[in-house]
Amino acid sequence: MLSDQDRMFTNLYGLHDPFLAGARARGDWDGTAAVMARGQEAIIAEMKVSGLRGRGGALFPTGIKWAIMPKVDTPIPNYLVINADEGEPGTCKDRDILRHEPHKLLEGALISSVAIRAHVCYVYIRGEFHAEAEAVQRAIDEAYAAGLIGKNACGTGWDFDVYIHRGGGAYVCGEQTALLESIEGKKGMPRQRPPSSATVGLYGCPTRVNNVETVAAVPVIMKRGGAWFAGLSAPKEGGSKIFCISGHVNKPCNVEEALGISLRELIETYAGGVRGGWDNLQAVIPGGVSVPVLPKHVCDTVTLDFDALKEVKASLGTGAIIVIDKSVDLIDTFARIEHFFMFESCGQCTPCREGTGWMMRILKRMTEGRAEPEEIDLLDSVTRQIKGYTICSLGDAAAQAAGGLVRNFRPLIEERIAQYKAGHREPGATSGRAAANPVAAE
Ligand code: SF4
Repeated sequence: MLSDQDRMFTNLYGLHDPFLAGARARGDWDGTAAVMARGQEAIIAEMKVSGLRGRGGALFPTGIKWAIMPKVDTPIPNYLVINADEGEPGTCKDRDILRHEPHKLLEGALISSVAIRAHVCYVYIRGEFHAEAEAVQRAIDEAYAAGLIGKNACGTGWDFDVYIHRGGGAYVCGEQTALLESIEGKKGMPRQRPPSSATVGLYGCPTRVNNVETVAAVPVIMKRGGAWFAGLSAPKEGGSKIFCISGHVNKPCNVEEALGISLRELIETYAGGVRGGWDNLQAVIPGGVSVPVLPKHVCDTVTLDFDALKEVKASLGTGAIIVIDKSVDLIDTFARIEHFFMFESCGQCTPCREGTGWMMRILKRMTEGRAEPEEIDLLDSVTRQIKGYTICSLGDAAAQAAGGLVRNFRPLIEERIAQYKAGHREPGATSGRAAANPVAAE
């Protein structure tokens, strides 16, 4: 488990002053000029050593992502864009950084800007995050006034400007190319790749889009060293991250922990355990609704790291741990999740546009049991015709969600269909499990 001395986000819960005086007292903006003086190559090399992977769900190594950017100045600018369009259901970690640690984010943005040779940064903040945008704007104003950003940032001779761009509320704008389109004033629709945004990004210029948690982790990693961060977790797992634990736990919370902690230990140590006890657990979605659901027998032993989750055909995603107890009708839950993806699909790709609605309709009928047993394979085949055949990862996410349900809960669907055929279920009936659940019956 992570010790308090190794936690990067020391004001995650907003118990202290989030603004400049408080941030400085916690060590933010301390030694920033010295870190910047190390230069582009050294900063990238340190980040590679740290093993930090993108915390927005894509999990791409940050040092490698930065290394792709131009190494010399060109006539066109480079841009840093911070993705604060946090919209993955179950995820609420960036929000806490924005409102409680905004200076860590700005300091990280300044150091990141040296690594990718960008003198301008846009922070794309989810439209609904009013208080968070206000907190970041106040921190920006303080940083300009103190000479920490702007012309000659931190006295280093490096110019660095930061602007906030408010999103309009579309989930798909969390996808990096849709986000860039949105900043440019266009409809937030993902772009075809290649080219990568490292070569043709914002306004056609080289751009790196990084998640809030990723950027905010940069100052501490650079000051304490990449090896320190890498050593917090098992080798190659990439240090610590913020987990968001929600759903049927006694104390939902956000907590920073080392990667590699067991799922059960995380839930029982920080979230007060599963409502009604561990045996009342039905399933966990371990990384936001875009990643496959895990059944209880896997949750009993799985650890929260990239390799372990890959082995059970899941992913760490954003680190949003959604705990589902036995009171929940899981098929209905996934019908709703597919409804969400259908609603948020931008409609450019046929497999995503048509497939999300198709999966939702099948799952809605399966919720009642009003389906044929062979439709379980049909649903599985629809997921395989979406995954990998769309422009952006929204289609993949929708397919993974339904695919995980079929893979791990096929007997539940079969039982529901059999009950309906035997006349034990009324058309339109949904949750068939709540009555049997002792906690739900209380
Ligand atoms: Fe739009 Fe879906 Fe295609 Fe992404 S996968 S570009 S959301 S239609």
